[in-house]
Amino acid sequence: MAKMLRWERAWGYFLQAFYTGRVHGGGYWKAKRPDHVQHYWKLVRLLKALGISVWLHKDLGESIDAFNRPFTIGGCWNSYGFKVSLLYRSYSILSHEAAHAADYLLNGTRRTSECELVASGAGYLLDCAHMGIRSPGPAVSYAKRQGATSEELSRLEEYILRVFNEMNTLLSDQ
Ligand SMILES: [Zn+2]
Repeated sequence: MAKMLRWERAWGYFLQAFYTGRVHGGGYWKAKRPDHVQHYWKLVRLLKALGISVWLHKDLGESIDAFNRPFTIGGCWNSYGFKVSLLYRSYSILSHEAAHAADYLLNGTRRTSECELVASGAGYLLDCAHMGIRSPGPAVSYAKRQGATSEELSRLEEYILRVFNEMNTLLSDQ
């Protein structure tokens, strides 16, 4: 039996959580892992090499989801300014925004629900690949509250894996 790569296992958890609602545990890290800082800056350097700057903000305001429920914005990708804004230095938020940027550069999806599904899926994979497997719960529920559907996931699955692989390959050169 071939050894499953960490991101492959993570993707299985993501699909299971999305389609069945059964969320594999794992939870959040209690504290920042020692390599968090190193991986965070590696991803910042990759974005910089792609012409994308990363900025910290005290407040990014609120937005509403597909069901008109408000939420606090933790990060955002601005394709006009080629800029990623973050509320704080978090690898999971940065990887989500980096996936939006990669999706934009690959000329991918367009609808909000599709963009958020791609960013949530590919960002989660990047997060797990470099920081260890964590629960897919937050990434899946965020994509769903942005309106992502099972139909979109099955249609975009190959593309989400491509976005992750492109980023992962570029990161290994950093
Ligand atoms: Zn997003």
